[in-house]
Amino acid sequence: MSQSNRRTFLMQVAAAGTALAATQAHAQVKLDEKDPQAVGLGYVHDTKKADKKKYPKHTNDQKCSNCALFQGKAADAWGGCPLFGAKQVAGPGWCSAWAKKA
Ligand code: SF4
Repeated sequence: MSQSNRRTFLMQVAAAGTALAATQAHAQVKLDEKDPQAVGLGYVHDTKKADKKKYPKHTNDQKCSNCALFQGKAADAWGGCPLFGAKQVAGPGWCSAWAKKA
């Protein structure tokens, strides 16, 4: 590889890396129910599937979309939740930290 080709190549690698980082930052990563933190909080994508024995206070009308912590709009299929960092939780989902939206 000639010196100038090498430099072009390195610049392309750097540019590709930057583009990738930008994509990842904007990627809407969905929370996995098997994520250890999700398991710890009893998170499910569908509130009806919540463990009723473990969480007797759960009711099917408690959903991420009407939780005080949900960052999406009530009609959004997915939205952010500060408990799970950058990952998105399902609008119809639920976890044991559910709190009624004021
Ligand atoms: S805290 Fe609320 S919005 Fe976040 S996962 Fe639990 S129920 Fe859903």
